[in-house]
Amino acid sequence: MLETTVVIIGGGATGTGTLRDLSMRGIPAILLEQGGIAHGTSSRFHGLLHSGARYVVNDNESARECIEENMIVRRIGRQCVEQTEGFFALTPQDDPSYVEKFIDGCRTAGIDAQEIEVAEALRLEPHLSPEVRRVFRVPDSCVDGFRLVLHNAMSAQRYGGRMFTYHEATGITLRNGQVCGVTAVNRHTGETVEIACQCVVNAAGSWSGHIAGMAGLDVSLSPDRGTLIVFNHRFTSRVINRLHPSGDGDIFVPHGSITILGTTSAATDKPDDTTPTTEEVLRLLDIGEPLFPQVHQYRILRAFAGTRPLYTPGGTSGRKASRNFHIVDHADEGLEGMVSIFGGKLTTYRLMAERVADRVCAKLGQCVPCKTADEPLVHDVDEATLKRAARFFPMQGLHLMADRLGDDLPGVLELAEKQPNNPLLCECEMVSMAEIEYVARQPAIFSLTDIRLRTRLGMGTCQGAFCSLRTVGALTEHGVQLELTPTDNVRRFLQERWGGLRFALWGMQAREMELSRAIYASTLNLDGAEHEQDC
Ligand SMILES: Cc1cc2nc3c(=O)[nH]c(=O)nc-3n(C[C@H](O)[C@H](O)[C@H](O)COP(=O)(O)OP(=O)(O)OC[C@H]3O[C@@H](n4cnc5c(N)ncnc54)[C@H](O)[C@@H]3O)c2cc1C
Repeated sequence: MLETTVVIIGGGATGTGTLRDLSMRGIPAILLEQGGIAHGTSSRFHGLLHSGARYVVNDNESARECIEENMIVRRIGRQCVEQTEGFFALTPQDDPSYVEKFIDGCRTAGIDAQEIEVAEALRLEPHLSPEVRRVFRVPDSCVDGFRLVLHNAMSAQRYGGRMFTYHEATGITLRNGQVCGVTAVNRHTGETVEIACQCVVNAAGSWSGHIAGMAGLDVSLSPDRGTLIVFNHRFTSRVINRLHPSGDGDIFVPHGSITILGTTSAATDKPDDTTPTTEEVLRLLDIGEPLFPQVHQYRILRAFAGTRPLYTPGGTSGRKASRNFHIVDHADEGLEGMVSIFGGKLTTYRLMAERVADRVCAKLGQCVPCKTADEPLVHDVDEATLKRAARFFPMQGLHLMADRLGDDLPGVLELAEKQPNNPLLCECEMVSMAEIEYVARQPAIFSLTDIRLRTRLGMGTCQGAFCSLRTVGALTEHGVQLELTPTDNVRRFLQERWGGLRFALWGMQAREMELSRAIYASTLNLDGAEHEQDC
């Protein structure tokens, strides 16, 4: 049996943030995540590091939290954030009287919102509709959720925190009204793991209600599904929001070379109901059109969805339900040692982790201050290391790779130095052989999809059509064995990509998909190869 002080259930931003916080305070903790890194909503979201301007009218306190945390995350998570700034643009369809409320709200929340001339806004963002009436600049930014979660986990591990991915919590052990352990199942081996502990933090996002149920508790949580679409190019330099009360499909967020539009909001009964629909995609395009009149012509790479856990005591629902975060100390219901934390935003994950860790410390009778706002998540790469790396990695991808890898960069560099050459296997995202091999050899990596989550392999325009084949071939040549056979790996990888492609299959993307199908189904006979393997 393993022993620790705190078990955290859920490896999204909130859970890994909590693992980092407790570990930095010197409190032993183990995190359990049923999937790979950022398996839940923290990788199925918009990627906006909110300035808070979105919430200034309806929820000024939330807006203030966002702007404060936005500034902290920029500082500690530099490698995960692109400081783009954002525009709030009033279109002819929006109510002009909202603007004064917006300006007042920004002032109250401490958000620097500056109006600029429409002509200047159009010069900076030439694809923006010339019909927009007023434009305000705000300190919005973009954040990479996968990387933020990974870097939090790396930081936590440096302080002794332990994280078990592919471990599903299946039971919570209670004795005399006190939590004393957690049971988990290793999803790869089927092995059961028992962990003795004094406290459980339920950070399972949309699954939190289910986890609370394991301890016989009832948390009023309703998952709410939001669909987003990914365009294959970046047509804005900044985040572009519609200047009106929060609604569906009205924020465009640029990420690297692509742009994400979202989101919808629809009640669901399943936390993993992440399948978008073509109707939602078409509706998002219609709603986005007043900001970008050409949006219907832009090529869509894929659509995806995530679920947000809405706190719905008394039956509130949809956009009326609070999007703030909530901490429930189950001692109030007679169970000592268990705290649930859910809701909020990825932007405020650090604050959520701080508040829940404060609560845990109070329970344990420990008085150690939080240090997570002071120290960067990963170390900055020094100039000498970058210079060494420049000999093995393409210049255009060097900083991208260094930011992505964080503490893993020296290991990848060492591997690259041992190899005669280091080809790019994924050109869209600039991922080279050494990086893929290093990641593939990590114990928590089982499939091409795990490699994708760590490196962004296959996330670009080709959606894996070229790089998945190259990668399995190269890994086989280098003697790296994943859990699945090479054929199964490619098949599952492409199937997962297909899951996002099929709801927006028209125009150029349909042609790209047919090319991919021609490569794998006709030329390489992937289905046939699978049958042969089964025989
Ligand atoms: C469509 C959409 C768009 C959004 N856009 C933004 C945005 O632009 N900016 C922003 O700041 N916020 C945004 N949010 C909110 C933000 O994404 C979430 O607040 C945040 O990601 C929640 O993180 P989390 O760690 O609490 O939950 P999650 O990331 O869902 O993590 C919970 C984890 O618990 C794991 N788990 C569940 N059950 C078990 C079990 N039995 N054992 C082990 N592990 C388990 C799950 O696999 C999951 O990985 C958006 C949300 C949605 C839905």
